[in-house]
Amino acid sequence: MTGVVVLGATGSVGTQAADVLEAHRDRFRVEGLASGRRGEALLAMARRLRCPRIALSDPEAAQALRPSLRPGDPELRVGPEGVLSLVDEPSATTVLQATTGAAGLPASLRAAARGKRLALANKESMVVAGPLLGAAARASGAEIVPVDSEHCAIHQCLRAGRPGEVRRLVLTASGGPFLHADRARLARVTPAEALRHPTWAMGPRITVDSATLLNKALEVIEARWLFDVPADRIEVVVHPQSIVHSMVEFVDGSVVAQMGPPDMRTPIRYALGFPERLPAERPRFDVRDYSQLTFLAPDRERFPGLDLGFEAARRGGTAGAALNGADEVAVAAFLAGGLGFDAIATVCADALARHPFVPHPTLDDVLRVDAWAREEITARCSR
Ligand code: MG
Repeated sequence: MTGVVVLGATGSVGTQAADVLEAHRDRFRVEGLASGRRGEALLAMARRLRCPRIALSDPEAAQALRPSLRPGDPELRVGPEGVLSLVDEPSATTVLQATTGAAGLPASLRAAARGKRLALANKESMVVAGPLLGAAARASGAEIVPVDSEHCAIHQCLRAGRPGEVRRLVLTASGGPFLHADRARLARVTPAEALRHPTWAMGPRITVDSATLLNKALEVIEARWLFDVPADRIEVVVHPQSIVHSMVEFVDGSVVAQMGPPDMRTPIRYALGFPERLPAERPRFDVRDYSQLTFLAPDRERFPGLDLGFEAARRGGTAGAALNGADEVAVAAFLAGGLGFDAIATVCADALARHPFVPHPTLDDVLRVDAWAREEITARCSR
């Protein structure tokens, strides 16, 4: 039995992880579940999965949940320290990190430092502090297995060759709902339109990021650190059907791709079960259902956010923290009606160019740049 803690349990990946864990009760014991402020949903999930402890990082939400607790219910831990204490539980050897945003970084670092299997859906941890996270994992022997579907695909493809045999990584992108929209149309995109993704069901921030291609920008940075491959050996292709989840080209010219229907439960199953594969109940994939798989070059003029990822991956240091911090605030401002859709990439480019760059940052440097970027964009959007 593997003891598992799920962080961000009430979000999109977290609830799908709960389904996977429930289907594999014979293999996994759920040792802890954490959420930001969705107390009632967290408690219901904990009761269903017979989980002994939960944590809410928002103390007010924890206070509000207390009257609902009955004898036999899980122990409630409070605040960011409460969340970290779940990661510390000796009975938990796997941490599924599905928190949204750079707020997930402390728990990711803690899991890596404690030598846990880190099933990483929180790409921001890698984007903001990839080298620090990698160093913590190497020191403890922790294994990081990506849940992000593209990176999970690459992780699988890399098993077909040796590290020195890799020529390049090819990340696929759906292209989002505005793949063929012209500039005038992009300037008028509303939050409701941006939240309708053609192929994947995901949380609001990543859905908007998919529409601007900034999600792919962050994934380029994530791949750079996760697989230790320089930016000039990473490529992005648009693949609207989201069936080929990514590819690896090897030095002999062989290209290995990983395919499947777009369903986050597949990478969740992979990251929890690795190196074994957990059986899925879904019907067998029939390639004849997809008679047209298309691949095209991304339009870097209409979607300037993509190149920011390559730039940040090339520069390293605090560039990822600046880009991600700016994007988190810019997306929130767009969803609140305070920033145009096409301005998200503009303000991110500005933050990336102007931030106080540190080439070999400590955790404090990274957090300082993250805060700087948030303040910059907040001030800009309130002007
Ligand atoms: Mg992805």
